[in-house]
Amino acid sequence: MFEITWYKALKQSQNFRRMITRGIEPDKFTLGYLKLPLDLKKIYNLLIQKGKYQYNYSSLTSYPHQVFQARWLLSDEVQIHIRMYEDGRVSAHYEWTPEFKFAEHCKGIGCRPLDRQEILMYVKRPLWEVLK
Ligand SMILES: [Zn+2]
Repeated sequence: MFEITWYKALKQSQNFRRMITRGIEPDKFTLGYLKLPLDLKKIYNLLIQKGKYQYNYSSLTSYPHQVFQARWLLSDEVQIHIRMYEDGRVSAHYEWTPEFKFAEHCKGIGCRPLDRQEILMYVKRPLWEVLK
């Protein structure tokens, strides 16, 4: 029951966004690769059930071949936004939350790649079980 519900929610929101997104995510946000085949339930567990991420319903962007995304709210103002792709690629960036600065968020103002410390804390630690 649980599996069907969360997976359906993911799929539906991905499909909706796929229709409105063009282009591909810049390479500068790529951090590494996950083990294939992707275990989305495990990823969901690590990031959202055990971790501090929440599913990113507010994101308006879903790139081609993207299969998962989530955000870690650092405060009401800033967040870490993580994405995953079919081929195992993981990317992330630091940015304003859309709730705090919607226009800037949409234009990518204040958006930047993570530094080493942030990669370790927000990507490698939570995902260590599924990273290549
Ligand atoms: Zn983002």
